[in-house]
Amino acid sequence: MRKLRTQVGIVGAGPAGLLLAHLLHLEAIDSVVLESRSRDYVERRVRAGVLEQGSVELLNESGVGERMRREGLVHHGIEVRFGGAGHRIDFPELTGGRSITVYGQQEVVKDLVAARIAAGCELRFGVGDVAVHDVESDAPRISFRDGADEFELACDVVAGCDGFHGICRQAIPTANLSVFERVYPFAWLGILAAAPPTHDELIYAYHERGFALYSMRSPEITRLYIQVAPDEDIADWPDERIWQELHARLETSDGWKLREGPVLEKGVTGMRSFVAEPMQYGRLYLAGDAAHIVPPTGAKGMNLAIADVRVLAGALIGFFKARRTDLLEAYSATCLKRVWRAEHFSWWMTSMLHRFPGDDGFQQRLQRSQLDYVVSSRVAAASLAENYVGLPFA
Ligand SMILES: Cc1cc2nc3c(=O)[nH]c(=O)nc-3n(C[C@H](O)[C@H](O)[C@H](O)COP(=O)(O)OP(=O)(O)OC[C@H]3O[C@@H](n4cnc5c(N)ncnc54)[C@H](O)[C@@H]3O)c2cc1C
Repeated sequence: MRKLRTQVGIVGAGPAGLLLAHLLHLEAIDSVVLESRSRDYVERRVRAGVLEQGSVELLNESGVGERMRREGLVHHGIEVRFGGAGHRIDFPELTGGRSITVYGQQEVVKDLVAARIAAGCELRFGVGDVAVHDVESDAPRISFRDGADEFELACDVVAGCDGFHGICRQAIPTANLSVFERVYPFAWLGILAAAPPTHDELIYAYHERGFALYSMRSPEITRLYIQVAPDEDIADWPDERIWQELHARLETSDGWKLREGPVLEKGVTGMRSFVAEPMQYGRLYLAGDAAHIVPPTGAKGMNLAIADVRVLAGALIGFFKARRTDLLEAYSATCLKRVWRAEHFSWWMTSMLHRFPGDDGFQQRLQRSQLDYVVSSRVAAASLAENYVGLPFA
């Protein structure tokens, strides 16, 4: 067993773990990042793609925004489609000038991995048997295997940034954790297509055949989703059937046409809301999907991960530089305020835009009334816009 030592042991090299390591490095706080997958895998994993303005500002301020500024697509609104017509929600006009940037999560990950490697800091891919120990004490440890070697990493603090299926949350005794959860009775079938976008902004479509989302990742690539059953078998969805469904749900009589192209990737993702409280146990701090997940309708998953580690980095800087413990003690409560706002917004968008199995005329008329209100009332549109672009950091 080989022994290592660091100040912050970080499990997981997703947006949360990598950004935390970067923010700590800028303050000369040492960390080791342990990732079970390969570098190639994490840099190709297509997931979220919408960055709130606050996330963009944080990436820029911390020096990893150069490629995002060049390649990211700044969007000033979204379109909500229903009843055969589109309605634009203008973000800057409704939020005092705020916007979003479309830039793939895998691109954020690539930029952060590159920064970590350029700084010569430790980031181990492909590690196995990761386990956390003694997190109740002030000398927690992480054991792991790297190739044929077994390691033990002594830390002052462990950051659990290992996503929803990671081991860190599971290391917390169930008696010390409260879990709040909703599983939705549908999933999203998503495709990535080599087709230049034919619309400048995201389109959220409420349709009798089910929800659809039109989005893009770059000037060459579109990202499209349709609502399907939660147990949908992707094998039942040849590309032609997916395109047919997308045309039916997204196109209206306004003449706009969806452009088809080779499907590069496709998959079905379940929809769930989940929060584990508190986001801390002893010297173990959870961040990002390890502590909470949202259905993707509100585009909040990656942004919440970024917001968490912004708070955690600040608290750890206070701890290591000034021996302050108050910020770490407040970490969970500080994050959960933003987390629950995003949970509500994501649930609300999901409930407004999807067809629920067994819903009746009453339910559908309520949805239509809500949609009409959102696109006709400035106050209601401003509320959607404010949540979508992201509330300012506390
Ligand atoms: C299929 C899919 C599609 C999504 N689409 C969208 C979307 O369109 N819009 C949106 O806003 N959000 C979306 N999300 C959510 C968003 O991607 C997440 O919120 C975001 O990835 C959270 O970042 P994170 O760093 O907390 O977790 P992750 O990105 O999950 O990173 C956790 C990392 O920990 C690693 N890990 C796990 N276990 C271990 C272990 N035992 N040891 C070491 N490493 C470990 C994992 O390999 C991973 O690299 C999607 C999520 C999924 C799963």
